[in-house]
Amino acid sequence: MAQAAEPTNPEHPDIENLLTEDRRFPPDPEFAAQANVHPEVYSWAAADRLGFWADQARELITWSTPFSEVLDWSGAPVARWFGDGKLNAAYNAVDRHVEAGNGDRVALHFEGEPGDSRAITYAELQREVSRAANALTELGVGTGDRVAIYMPLVPEAVVAMLACARIGAPHSVVFGGFSAEALHSRILDAEAKLVITADGGYRRGSASALKPAVDEALEKGAPTIEHVLVVRRTGQDVAWTEGRDVWWHDVVDSASDTHAPVEVESEHPLFILYTSGTTGKPKGIFHTTGGYLTQTAFTHRAVFDLKPETDVYWCTADIGWVTGHSYVVYGPLVNGATQVIYEGTPDTPDKGRWWSVVEKYKVSILYTAPTAIRTCMKWGEEIPAAHDLSSIRLLGSVGESINPAAWTWYRRVIGGDKAPIVDTWWQTETGAIMISPLPGVTTAKPGSAQVPLPGIAADVLDDDAQPVPNGSGGYLVLTEPWPAMLRGIWGDEERFRDTYWSRFPGRYFAGDGAKKDEDGDIWLLGRVDDVMNVSGHRLSTTEIESALVSHPIVAEAAVVGANDETTGQAVVAFVILRTEEGDAAQASGMDVQAELRTHVAKEIGPIAKPRRILVVQELPKTRSGKIMRRLLRDVAEHRVVGDATTLADSSVMDLITAGLNTPSASSAD
Ligand code: ATP
Ligand code: MG
Repeated sequence: MAQAAEPTNPEHPDIENLLTEDRRFPPDPEFAAQANVHPEVYSWAAADRLGFWADQARELITWSTPFSEVLDWSGAPVARWFGDGKLNAAYNAVDRHVEAGNGDRVALHFEGEPGDSRAITYAELQREVSRAANALTELGVGTGDRVAIYMPLVPEAVVAMLACARIGAPHSVVFGGFSAEALHSRILDAEAKLVITADGGYRRGSASALKPAVDEALEKGAPTIEHVLVVRRTGQDVAWTEGRDVWWHDVVDSASDTHAPVEVESEHPLFILYTSGTTGKPKGIFHTTGGYLTQTAFTHRAVFDLKPETDVYWCTADIGWVTGHSYVVYGPLVNGATQVIYEGTPDTPDKGRWWSVVEKYKVSILYTAPTAIRTCMKWGEEIPAAHDLSSIRLLGSVGESINPAAWTWYRRVIGGDKAPIVDTWWQTETGAIMISPLPGVTTAKPGSAQVPLPGIAADVLDDDAQPVPNGSGGYLVLTEPWPAMLRGIWGDEERFRDTYWSRFPGRYFAGDGAKKDEDGDIWLLGRVDDVMNVSGHRLSTTEIESALVSHPIVAEAAVVGANDETTGQAVVAFVILRTEEGDAAQASGMDVQAELRTHVAKEIGPIAKPRRILVVQELPKTRSGKIMRRLLRDVAEHRVVGDATTLADSSVMDLITAGLNTPSASSAD
């Protein structure tokens, strides 16, 4: 399938291009004929980038005061988009759909984990958001004050975000799976005035408490917090601090259901959101209003081909990460979509839960993460096959590179061998999708995010800041400002400049490795911090992981470079086997380590052959399902495991460390 090339410049080798993927999936003509966007959109945007964005802003967003200025980049790296315009995000997401006569359209189909459900129309959402906005005002929250939101994925979480937006109070959503410690540091950093939470939420079949973590966080000292607003979800007992704690049903239900949205400037802060922390201490990324809404709305419409009258859209992300902000709350609601939100885990009460949700609501667009797809591969395709998934017409992926084997599985098993897949590259910092195929337009290549969207300018540079030629790897950068770009790291302008703007002056450095293939299409190669140096070859994590996942017994893989006396670094791989195929292989006496090492050598070349392969049950992942390779590197180098506070499940590291110390788990040369 591929061959290892010599590094182009042995002094400063750029990241190697090892994997070649020849499969192509041209758009289905029937899909293309009805698609929201056509190939001309690229040339239109390229000819007049600012004019293109101004048109999107006018067409997709309602401005209470129209803008005349498009981009002001004189304060670079802090951009101003549509700077003299004014608007309100909640009005755009809710009210205007009611005014347009679509008040009876369902905005949210909520599916609770225990099986309870609620359908909330745009008219109902408008009343609920208005009540909540009135209640927040009553609690003393004003325009510009920060509100922390620490909630399960229930409709009130969406209402809370929109109520903040309605009064111009930036929200800071903290993932409900995080500890009191993580919540505390985020409350302090944002100097939040209010926390909105719930007694608990349902996870893995039982009520899981949230309020105690808020109490614990506030006991550590949070002088700016005045109140805690508590939604009753599970009915479990909660400790109560009189005067500080307030029930949602007491103050929101009784509030007036009309509220005039506060008109804010385009550059008014909409939210702060902390990154996943895959590579280090989370950063408080902050986003503003007009540009952010414009790009989330445009990308949601173009990349997902949304037809608001007929589609049922489901993004499986939690609101605690950026995908939940841009593609659960703002993008879809601004576009008037009908969407599903699901509170719980994919395996409750059984491993078919997601597919029964798809079947129940006739989901037509599904947006999820590669980790979820690989988990379903591990469980086996007979599980989705037992459900009617024929409503699905488009699939999306985000969060990590999707290995070609997972991509083809996703399309065949979930997409009925027909649904286009959009592999969307973006970050908390970019606010919206930046690089992705366009459905009905792009001939898809499994594993590649392919092309910058219309209006977006990206490149791959070498160490000397020169664009790499096609066929080579390097550093992914964005070369022009974009509407949804971050406006900074909350309270830390220096870190903002250092992290993103100092490596390649004038260009935004994303921190990701990438390569251009022979057609110039972009393939993400993983974090540059994770790049390995093996005998002078710089190897990316992604390609070796994809080679491992292409073996029929492997469901997931993570590779890291561990210090090695002879080669500088040696590749160490952690793999999860597919349940059935893995058991069969082990029963037949297959030497899994030897088999997989040979497989990698054959797929992408001997240089990439892992020195050690460990079969594990789980991998350390963040809340958003990203593999935390830096923790695995600690394990591989026998160090004390570093900051694991953003891990979704902290027991995973103990399991892996224990496994590493049993002799049968590893294999040397
Ligand atoms: P931190 O910056 O704190 O380490 P994080 O980068 O994991 O956290 P996010 O902003 O949620 O937090 O993740 C963005 C990153 O996810 C991207 O930089 C990229 O590495 C990865 N990513 C997202 N989408 C894709 C994709 N389609 N293909 C490859 N990688 C992706
Ligand atoms: Mg990041």
